[in-house]
Amino acid sequence: MSKAYKQVPFAAIVPSPKTENEGMVTGNWRYLRPVVDKSLCTKCKTCWIFCPDACVNYSKDDGISFNLKYCKGCGLCSNVCPVGAISRQPELDFEE
Ligand code: SF4
Ligand code: SF4
Repeated sequence: MSKAYKQVPFAAIVPSPKTENEGMVTGNWRYLRPVVDKSLCTKCKTCWIFCPDACVNYSKDDGISFNLKYCKGCGLCSNVCPVGAISRQPELDFEE
């Protein structure tokens, strides 16, 4: 049987994405993406802690950004943000 993309055996264990993990590239199926309003963000890093795909980046100068190559659009970051700085917006609203 040929290998299918993301096909794994039942109960398979895959490495946790501590950083970029090529096995967990999202592809083009995400339909909502997180967008941060930097004027509201307090840089508390709660979203960075909670993202299950380790695709929230934090820098002291620029604050929060998202690595969309890995973001699944799950909305967890948006749900845990204590100040409502992250919204989820339709992918089709963006050219890239
Ligand atoms: S939407 Fe989900 S995968 Fe994307 S940055 Fe937020 S928590 Fe991470
Ligand atoms: S959880 Fe919200 S306020 Fe905290 S760093 Fe993330 S976007 Fe900023």
